[in-house]
Amino acid sequence: MRIGVQLPDGLKRRAIEICEKLGSFMLSGETCFGACDIDLALLEDVDVLYHYAHTKLLDFEKVVYVPFYVDYEVEKVAEKLEEIKERNIALISTAQYCHKLPELKEVLEKRGFSVELKKGSSRVEMPGQVLGCNYSSLRDARADAIVFVGDGIFHARGALLYTGKKVYSINPLSFELQEIHVKDFLRERYFLISKCVGLKNLGILVSTKKGQKRLKLAEKIREKAIEHGLKAIIVYIGEITPEKLENLPFEFYVNTACPRISYDDYKRFRMPIITPQEFDVLIGERKDLLVDEIVDS
Ligand code: SF4
Repeated sequence: MRIGVQLPDGLKRRAIEICEKLGSFMLSGETCFGACDIDLALLEDVDVLYHYAHTKLLDFEKVVYVPFYVDYEVEKVAEKLEEIKERNIALISTAQYCHKLPELKEVLEKRGFSVELKKGSSRVEMPGQVLGCNYSSLRDARADAIVFVGDGIFHARGALLYTGKKVYSINPLSFELQEIHVKDFLRERYFLISKCVGLKNLGILVSTKKGQKRLKLAEKIREKAIEHGLKAIIVYIGEITPEKLENLPFEFYVNTACPRISYDDYKRFRMPIITPQEFDVLIGERKDLLVDEIVDS
């Protein structure tokens, strides 16, 4: 029996140990940023593929999703959250930390907080879970503030852009607490949009990764681009790298794949890469840069 293993970058250094434990000798060497990113080539050649650290997003018969939970002290997180002034909050987190949100909610409620903890669309599995491309667990949130439990600011900033509400981020291991601000970020995004004004040749990036592929959205963007006098071609692409785009003749891009490419990686690219919402701002169809819910095509 051939057993395949796919690990996110953070776990790759433990590949030998994990493969040995599973009796596997077939490891994916591709990048793996989310459950959207199943290694289809490896999947074809194995009987079962163990995909680590992400919850199920795509339905493949041969894929087993293996959770990777990080333990943390809920009482200490709750104690630190006493520093925020809002008492009506919503909790969110990522797959590694989400398992303890129900316990955190209970502890916070004993301390006098009112806590929303909701499960979102089928793209996420646990209450409060968010992805960088999916904040549906915050849909219709009534809380005065959102608390993101996790590391980095990518998801916390996304929650702010999705809800327009005040967002705090707390690292459950270091207990560092910060309020998220997006003023500088938005200034940079408007600057990037302004660089696209007057450009005529648009490439619309569609990922070949199954869980990131949004062809219908790309086709809609193309229609709008044509209406506004642009030349627009849909570009199918796997891993989006500066080298690949360098050989293409486009002056700017709209990215329909993972939002991290537009928001975190855009400085690596010579040409502007904007989001679908930002494209609507460019053509005058909307004013704000709040993030819409992503619907798969
Ligand atoms: S598209 Fe990006 S944000 Fe969404 S699940 Fe994949 S890696 Fe995560």
